[in-house]
Amino acid sequence: MTGESVLVIGAGVQGLTAGVVLAEAGLRVRIRTADRPRDTTSAVAGAMWGPAMLRPADRVLYWGTLSHAEFTELARDSGSGVHLASGRMAARFDLGDAVPPEARLIPDLRRCRPDELPEGFVSGYRATVPLIDMPAYLDYLVDRFRAAGGEIAVSPVPTLAEAAADSPLVVNCTGVGARELVGDPAVHPVRGQHVVVANPGIDEYFIELTTNSEFAGYMPHGDRVILGGVAVEQDWNLVPSRTVSEGILRRCAEIEPALAGAEVVDELIGLRPGRDSVRLEVEDFAGARIIHDYGHSGCGVSLSWGCAFEIAELLGA
Ligand SMILES: Cc1cc2nc3c(=O)[nH]c(=O)nc-3n(C[C@H](O)[C@H](O)[C@H](O)COP(=O)(O)OP(=O)(O)OC[C@H]3O[C@@H](n4cnc5c(N)ncnc54)[C@H](O)[C@@H]3O)c2cc1C
Repeated sequence: MTGESVLVIGAGVQGLTAGVVLAEAGLRVRIRTADRPRDTTSAVAGAMWGPAMLRPADRVLYWGTLSHAEFTELARDSGSGVHLASGRMAARFDLGDAVPPEARLIPDLRRCRPDELPEGFVSGYRATVPLIDMPAYLDYLVDRFRAAGGEIAVSPVPTLAEAAADSPLVVNCTGVGARELVGDPAVHPVRGQHVVVANPGIDEYFIELTTNSEFAGYMPHGDRVILGGVAVEQDWNLVPSRTVSEGILRRCAEIEPALAGAEVVDELIGLRPGRDSVRLEVEDFAGARIIHDYGHSGCGVSLSWGCAFEIAELLGA
């Protein structure tokens, strides 16, 4: 396949990672995107590598495993935006003894002692995982993609037929945009909001494990801390809500008092590409081979390298 031309649609974490893997394998890769990388949902993610409770479970485990290895390696490169951090994942209910299979990849995973849990929490784990500073990491991926000969253009793709006419090989990484481009009603927005504050000296992360739409979580990235979170199904609103930000700040300050009064430097909105199952499969369409890769919900960063490697396999790269 060396030298073959491929069109990747989308410059979020899925499109850029696929672009890097394919370009470094020797393919001639162009990315067309509606938004610049730093304006995508991917740029808003917190982001941590973590176990992804998505379907199809066997593929998700495989993608997550490969991605964990890549992010762990990238953490050795100070220019990548990735670093390893210790922190807690905790719940206000008993998590029981079962842990997701990907958790076995975390070398130092252990139960929190009762005195390590914030007030109101009854169980949790302490673990060192990759944290990804997404704006910096997307810049890193763009640089690496270009260094391998890839080209990026802000050029929305109106229809799949137009993409098929543009290139016989297409990789569709359009996130929530796949709902319209593919006409896939299973894709829907799960709105998230983050508050970015100046770091008051925090170097550990915290994530509340819950199925509620409001929760507490924070991730430090150098001089900033990203605070969350909310997950609102079917909400396309891209305007940050002051009330939601106040709730996020209050919940996070209850966990980590040093965050109370931290200077707010930004408020971010991102639409997670919700879907009951990740779609990574080939479709023959109008004479082109299209590989769909979308619907990663709240775990698209955690699965990105594994998905990109599978796309390369599907293309024989
Ligand atoms: C608040 C929040 C926190 C999160 N935290 C985490 C986390 O800690 N860990 C984790 O793994 N994940 C996390 N996620 C989820 C993660 O951000 C997503 O799963 C991931 O960003 C999806 O990546 P993507 O590349 O598929 O989509 P996107 O980043 O949305 O990129 C889609 C791309 O497709 C382009 N596009 C769409 N339609 C068209 C078209 N017609 N023509 C051309 N281009 C098009 C867009 O312009 C964009 O470039 C979080 C998400 C949010 C919102």
